[in-house]
Amino acid sequence: MTACPVCDSAKVEIIYHGRDKVLASFSATNLPDLILLRCRSCGMLFLDALTADTKTEHEAYWKILVNNTGGEGPQENSRQRESLFKELEARRNTGNLIEVGSGNGSLLRTAQEKGWHATGIELSEKATSLARDKYGIDILTGTLESAYPKLQPASFDAAVMWGVIEHLKQPKETLVTLKALLRKGGILAIYTPNADSIFHKAARFIYLSTFGRIRFFMERVIIAMHFMYFTPDTLQKVLAECGFRVVKTEMADIDIDFIFRAHSNFWWSNRIFLGFAKIIQKIGHINSMHSHMIVFAESV
Ligand SMILES: [Zn+2]
Repeated sequence: MTACPVCDSAKVEIIYHGRDKVLASFSATNLPDLILLRCRSCGMLFLDALTADTKTEHEAYWKILVNNTGGEGPQENSRQRESLFKELEARRNTGNLIEVGSGNGSLLRTAQEKGWHATGIELSEKATSLARDKYGIDILTGTLESAYPKLQPASFDAAVMWGVIEHLKQPKETLVTLKALLRKGGILAIYTPNADSIFHKAARFIYLSTFGRIRFFMERVIIAMHFMYFTPDTLQKVLAECGFRVVKTEMADIDIDFIFRAHSNFWWSNRIFLGFAKIIQKIGHINSMHSHMIVFAESV
């Protein structure tokens, strides 16, 4: 089994075994079963056998987004974006920002409007051409590691990964590279699903209490494109391992309307489920079990 991507421990256990129901519906790839592992040392949740071809799947996903939403990316929620820039601007020095996984370029566009010099890196060619056509923004196509030689070390004040770290197979590699690109005291902002959310907790409870018979909810939170399932605690741990100190953790919501619109070709993506998901999300607020989190960490 795969060793823990956070603490490298080999002491891992299987906590869920299921099929992918989301990616399989729009990708021709034959996907292996999804096996969710939990590290006994640090509690990290992650997928075993990280075999899906990230680039092919990511390209297929953008194709679906363009079909269903006209190329609007996820997380364009303006309130979250305002609070992101408020936090980044408090620490601004020279004004260089890098976004890893910049999608259709809308966050980079906001950054430019706010006076940042913004650099973006994106794996999907579909998304980078969208950014060029829609916002006139040039984005480096590829991974952060492949773009690294073109970038100046210690030259960035801020780095953003918005809905990206959960897609990485080796998050530590990317975080170490970002650490090298940020100046000392530079800030990294990460938005990612919260594996301690009400959705995850309820899905795990239903799966376990029915002895694995009811998987419907697990199949909606454990998906082939997400390899990493962080909680505020495990995210803080991996950041500390890579030379970052968490300065602020905010709870956040996913834009449920967007998710249902983006996945409108699925039978469950209807009004009843949409309303149900919104109610569950509100209940989660009571105990800070939001679907997502935004973590700000300083390069130390
Ligand atoms: Zn671990």
